[in-house]
Order: sequence, then C-alpha cells, then structure tokens
Amino acid sequence: MSQHLAILGAGPIGIEAALYARSLGLSVTLYDRGPAAANLLDWGHVHLFTPWRMNVTPLGVETLRRHDRWPEFPVDVCPSGEELRQHYLVPLTESEPLRHSLRLNTTILRIGRESHLKSDAIGKPERAKGGFRLLIENSEGIQQIDHADIVLDCTGTYGHHRWAGRGGIPAPGELTIEDQIFYTLPDPLTRDRTSFEDKHTLLLGCGYSAATFLKDIELLNRSHPVTKVTWAIRRPGQALQTIAADPLPARRHLVEASLRMADNPPAWLRFMSSVALESVEYAHGTFTAKLTDLETSQRDSHSIIRSDNIVALVGYSPDTSLYDQLQVHSCYATGGPMKLAAALLGESSADCLTAGANLSADTLKNPEPNFYILGAKSYGTNSNFLIQVGHNQIRDAFKLIRPQVPILA
Ligand SMILES: Cc1cc2nc3c(=O)[nH]c(=O)nc-3n(C[C@H](O)[C@H](O)[C@H](O)COP(=O)(O)OP(=O)(O)OC[C@H]3O[C@@H](n4cnc5c(N)ncnc54)[C@H](O)[C@@H]3O)c2cc1C
Repeated sequence: MSQHLAILGAGPIGIEAALYARSLGLSVTLYDRGPAAANLLDWGHVHLFTPWRMNVTPLGVETLRRHDRWPEFPVDVCPSGEELRQHYLVPLTESEPLRHSLRLNTTILRIGRESHLKSDAIGKPERAKGGFRLLIENSEGIQQIDHADIVLDCTGTYGHHRWAGRGGIPAPGELTIEDQIFYTLPDPLTRDRTSFEDKHTLLLGCGYSAATFLKDIELLNRSHPVTKVTWAIRRPGQALQTIAADPLPARRHLVEASLRMADNPPAWLRFMSSVALESVEYAHGTFTAKLTDLETSQRDSHSIIRSDNIVALVGYSPDTSLYDQLQVHSCYATGGPMKLAAALLGESSADCLTAGANLSADTLKNPEPNFYILGAKSYGTNSNFLIQVGHNQIRDAFKLIRPQVPILA
C-alpha cells in the first residue's frame, strides 16, 4: 500500500524534500503557514555567503531546466535570499511535480499518533500502526485533522527567536515590549530605512547576522552621519572568529569587517564585550537598556544605554511543542533531536562548512518511527546549519524511508 508523506514547512529544505519524494513517486503534502520560502522573503536583501552551487541540487536544477525556468546562474556567485527564493525555490513549488502537493497558508499546530499516546509502546515499531494525525489551521482559523504515514518536520527555527536577556531568559520588561524589538535581521538600507537613519540602535548579538547589520549601517552612516550603534555582546573579546583559509570569500569578508569594527570602532559605533541585558523598558519612543558587565559581575556594575531601536540578533530555537505528543528525544543543550545533537556536539569543527558534513543517516532517527526532523530545526539552537547540509539530510532520510531505492543527486 502506498504511503503518504507530510512535509511540514516549505522552506529551502521542505521544498527539496518534497521534490525528492515526488521523484520517487511518493504521495506528498507540503505545508507552510505562509507563502513558499517565507523566511527568505524576510531576509531577501541579504546575500548568502554560500554560492549558488551550494544552495541548489541537481534534481532541482534539472526540474527547472525541463520547464525552461532556470536562468543558468554562475555557480560561484552568491545569490541574495530574494534571488534564491524568486529564481529557484518558488519556481520549484510551481513545477509539475510539486504544484499539486502544495498547501500554503496552513499552519501545523500539533502532531500526534492515531492510536498511541506519547507514553504508549515506548520506542516500539508498533507505534507506526495507524500513522500520524496532524492538527492544521487555515488562514481563516478553521482547524481540521490531516493524516500521514511519514512526517518530515522542516519548519525551521526562524519564527521562534531566543530571548535577549541575561541567562537566555527574557530580561525584565522584554516580554512586554517584544513586538518593539527587531529579533530578525532588519533591512536598514531599504525596507526599514526610516527606523534607522539618523537614529541610535542598540545591537545585541555576535553572529553573522549582527555582522551583516553593521555592514549595512556603515553604508547608511555615509549618507546619514548621525546614525549610530552601540554593539553589545556577551562574549569576552571578539564576536566572530576567523576561519583559517576560509574557502567562502563572502563569509571571510563578513568576519573581517566584524573584527575591524570591534578592534577599531568607527565614530558611529560603540563596542562593548562581556555584557548582558539585565533589564529593558520602552517609553515615548526611547528604549532604556541596563547592561551588566559580566567580567566584574558586581551587582552595581551597569551601563545604561538609551536608544531609538533594539536589534536583538541572538539566535533562534526549535518549536518542539509541535511534536510534544511524540517520542522525540531532544537535546538538553540545543533543543535539537538528541542523536544528531550529540553527533554535532562531538564534532571538533566550529566551521559550519564542515560541521555535520560527515554524519550518518542514522543520526536522523528518532525513537518515534517514521518521524524525521530535517533542516535548520534539526540543529536546534546550533547556528551552524547550511542549506547544503539539509540537502545531504534529505538523501539520508530517504535512505531510511526507501532503503531499496537508489539515491538521487
Ligand atoms: C540572515 C540569514 C542568512 C543565512 N545565510 C545562509 C547562507 O549564506 N548559506 C546557508 O547555507 N544558509 C544560510 N542561512 C541559514 C539557513 O540555511 C536558512 O535559514 C534556511 O532558510 C533554512 O532552511 P529550512 O528549510 O530548514 O528552514 P526555513 O527556511 O526557516 O523554512 C521553514 C518553513 O517552515 C514554515 N513553518 C514554520 N512553522 C510552521 C508551522 N507550524 N506550520 C507550517 N509551516 C511552518 C515557515 O513559514 C518556513 O517557510 C541563513 C539564515 C539567515 C537567517
């Protein structure tokens, strides 16, 4: 009897997984709560540091070529999020193999088993009997149950930000003003320009997104010299680390810019390391943030920063509530599925290009049969996930789902 696959999340990984499944002749529904590749729309202005060749698959390119929809991009050029979405991901969802499988503007609320509760038949294959029940909700708020034999959770982490407060919990005041804070990367040069030009921003966070924001503000400051930033990070010393002989030039430039700005802050930038957000409030258009110096750790060692904006690029975490009625063993450090998280924590490489490159298909297995977490969500709070890693995961997952079928490219 043919099995039905539910793929949750039409981001770069859900779309490729659905295409792969359709190429194997499987019956698939690909759900997304928004439009296809919605998150890339949000950070569409950002250029990826990985080139085209690392963000597409031979299967995807071949599918678009068949429909004359692949503009033959130079493989070594880095696309913007918008270009990747517009010229590759959206056309794939419109292609013959996928367009009848797509269910957009449909949110997955919960996943359960037809005939087992979470605590039944612990780790036993009989849990697979009867398949999964998905509680879904459409854009009008109407809920219903869909059914599936196999579920791939590719819902990412982007919509589920971490908190900026000290210790990873919300700082006093943060919950109240959550919707006033930018937790995703703004676009200070175009879409969000009026929020940033000639304004003072408190930037929290030390990853590639923070470095991207600073590069944009550096440009904005040339035409709007009153624009300034206080950049506060939790780590002592530098934000990003140089990767020896980095093969990705765009990433190397980003790291170099971040190091340059932290070492010799330009007039528009104040850099503070070893600090944490103790409390925050917002009144009459001004944020007042209290930052604690983590090195002295004295109760009264605070700085007060007043700003027009707070940009908190402090990362994302997986929403595990979707599968809290399934037997998924989550990592206590990252929130990702345990087998994969343990393999990643055991790896010595801090470089996202090589981290996770050689993991076996076995690391994708959960105690819950026929349930797989792929894509950025599978890495939990670990920000090393790359689209290319997700493509490998898809091939690995289908080795488990269809062991007798040859692996596609
Ligand atoms: C600014 C930025 C730059 C990046 N640059 C790079 C780069 O250069 N190279 C690289 O390889 N990676 C990069 N990444 C990391 C990563 O590869 C991407 O985030 C990628 O989008 C992850 O793909 P995904 O499909 O796993 O998840 P997502 O793209 O997050 O897609 C998940 C999808 O699931 C949907 N969804 C979520 N919850 C539900 C629900 N309950 N019901 C239904 N649908 C749901 C969302 O709407 C979304 O469409 C970058 C990330 C960011 C944020």
